[in-house]
Amino acid sequence: MKWLTFLHLGFLALIPVGIPIYAQTSSPSPNMISHKIAMVVHGGAGTIEPHSMTPELEKEYRAAIESALRVGTGILEKGGSSLDAVEAAVRLLEDDPHFNAGRGADFTSAGTNEMDAAIMDGRTRAAGAVASVQHVRNPITLARAVMEKSKHVFLVGAGAEEFARQHNIALMDAKYFWTQRRWDELQKEKAAEKAAGGEKRAAAPEERRLGTVGAVALDQNGNLAAATSTGGTTNKLPGRVGDSPIIGAGTFSDNKSCAVSCTGDGEFFIRASVAHEVAVLMEERHLSVGEAAEIALANAQKLGGTGGLIALDKDGNAALPFNTSGMYRGQLMLDGKFAIAIYREP
Ligand code: ASP
Repeated sequence: MKWLTFLHLGFLALIPVGIPIYAQTSSPSPNMISHKIAMVVHGGAGTIEPHSMTPELEKEYRAAIESALRVGTGILEKGGSSLDAVEAAVRLLEDDPHFNAGRGADFTSAGTNEMDAAIMDGRTRAAGAVASVQHVRNPITLARAVMEKSKHVFLVGAGAEEFARQHNIALMDAKYFWTQRRWDELQKEKAAEKAAGGEKRAAAPEERRLGTVGAVALDQNGNLAAATSTGGTTNKLPGRVGDSPIIGAGTFSDNKSCAVSCTGDGEFFIRASVAHEVAVLMEERHLSVGEAAEIALANAQKLGGTGGLIALDKDGNAALPFNTSGMYRGQLMLDGKFAIAIYREP
């Protein structure tokens, strides 16, 4: 098909994942359980190439992705919900400064950190989202609180932080989110912008937009959930919101079709409604999750956006397509082991 010619498959895309629940991470144990569980996580897509990575850094990224999968699948194996699994996995990555979410969030052009996150329950299509929060340690937990403890779906800025305060969700001093690496990236991006005569870019080039985190999971009760968290794009204007917290753009989950978490040029993912498009293609055109994910991503690419996504269907089939040189990603395989990958595999 045409789209296959310009969209490469992500490593292990289209491979059914999930395990009958006897599985353990590296050494399957024979505890019986009935239904299949499945989980996929990502840590952002962009220009990630072996030559720009040290072996130590690569190890750290792989370990972080593996820890997120371990914590999420640990919950699923014990019969916990997919919502708990995706929240726990994303929290762990938010606390890890390697990723552009929570602690390692990118800087805005004003030198602040503004974070966005969303979570969605495939069982009920309940959703919660927050944007432009500056002090929330785990924006995904705040998004879940919005879903479960407010009458709204989406809270932003000061109102979202006030809601966090009322619900005892951890707030941190702005210093907590300051990292040298992201600060240096901001300086580089400002210099590049100046060199380009102050040209306004809709989105940062892909090497300066990296490390958004997300998770999708299927639990023993057959419920899907999706979660995404990000610091956005380096040098974004204060107040800019990307696709991650927008239900149907960067995050979506419905038991009838799939759970999706995206990463990439948010402006284009919003315009292409990527996450919801995967679901629509599955429901209306009866495509597989792999086919639907590729077409939805190709639609964003036609508009000019690069990135990737992770998706699971209700049977635990996974798709992990991306059209960048790499995407930090990991999935639970049928044998109970974790497959972690960064670059495009042969
Ligand atoms: N999609 C995110 C945003 O535009 C960035 C990323 O995934 O890297 O805010």
